[in-house]
Amino acid sequence: MLASCNISEPKVITVDGEMPAGAMGKTLTHEHLLVDFIGADSTGYHRWNRDSVVEKVLPYLLEIKEMGYKTLVECTPAYIGRDPELLKILSGKSGVQLMTNTGYYSAVDAKFIPEHAFNETASQLAERWIDEAHNGIEGTGIYPGFIKIAVERGPLKEINRKVVKAACITHKETGLTIMSHTGLAVPAFEQLEILQEYGVHPSAFIWTHAHDEKDIEKHFEAASMGAWVAFDNFNPDRLERFVDFAQQMKKHGLLKKVLFSHDAGWYRPGEPGGGNFRGFTEIEEILIPALEESGLSQQDMHMLFVDNPARAFQVEKRLINSSY
Ligand SMILES: [Zn+2]
Repeated sequence: MLASCNISEPKVITVDGEMPAGAMGKTLTHEHLLVDFIGADSTGYHRWNRDSVVEKVLPYLLEIKEMGYKTLVECTPAYIGRDPELLKILSGKSGVQLMTNTGYYSAVDAKFIPEHAFNETASQLAERWIDEAHNGIEGTGIYPGFIKIAVERGPLKEINRKVVKAACITHKETGLTIMSHTGLAVPAFEQLEILQEYGVHPSAFIWTHAHDEKDIEKHFEAASMGAWVAFDNFNPDRLERFVDFAQQMKKHGLLKKVLFSHDAGWYRPGEPGGGNFRGFTEIEEILIPALEESGLSQQDMHMLFVDNPARAFQVEKRLINSSY
């Protein structure tokens, strides 16, 4: 299916298949509908009841639909609660376009890494992810719209390097964007080096949880290289920091590389009623008005919540020359 993509009409992939990137509309680029923290050895679809999750989560999607959001990027990888069929049901019932992913989460001492990933090479892992991109996930007919990985907050460990390499190989084959739970600048730039070795352009990389890094020079540097810099855990306590970040990025002409989201949601299997679910409205209610008040224009707002998500997630092989 990816072969049908061409440069003239950029595409993205939701749980309902391909669509023009321009149809994403207003988008939240990093949220979670369900996360299962029990670990790769014990998680599975038996851990939750889809009807109960739908009942709990649907109102939160309807709420953002009402506010004009058309797409939500669901960032939960396999072995930590990814459920493409659940997303398809929720998308159908809410009318919010949802995206899911392929890839593995290697942070938290590899608690969410399946056994096979310790023995397999990066190429073998990539083979699994490419298979999902070409043939759908687990026979569901649902395709990943991006690659989601996670690395530790410090210098990369072996398992982290392996998933980053697998992500590079997968990107080169599929054109799917690499979103990496990262945090600090040290692992961010170590990953960008691996991309470089594999000949993958930084614009294929989303530096996720970049707000954890306090040195804004690092954000300028990554964005100048072309990487996406995601401040994606907005909550009202962080308002000032987010507004300041947006202003500085704008001043440097780098607002075009910024992604904002809440990292909210999280139906938690094993907790009564799925625990405390956090909705997705604070950006609309609090951040956007504050950004406008700080002097950002309507065009800036359109760039942040419509154009940037479409460009970040469009399916496109972004390559540079390399020895690989
Ligand atoms: Zn997240």
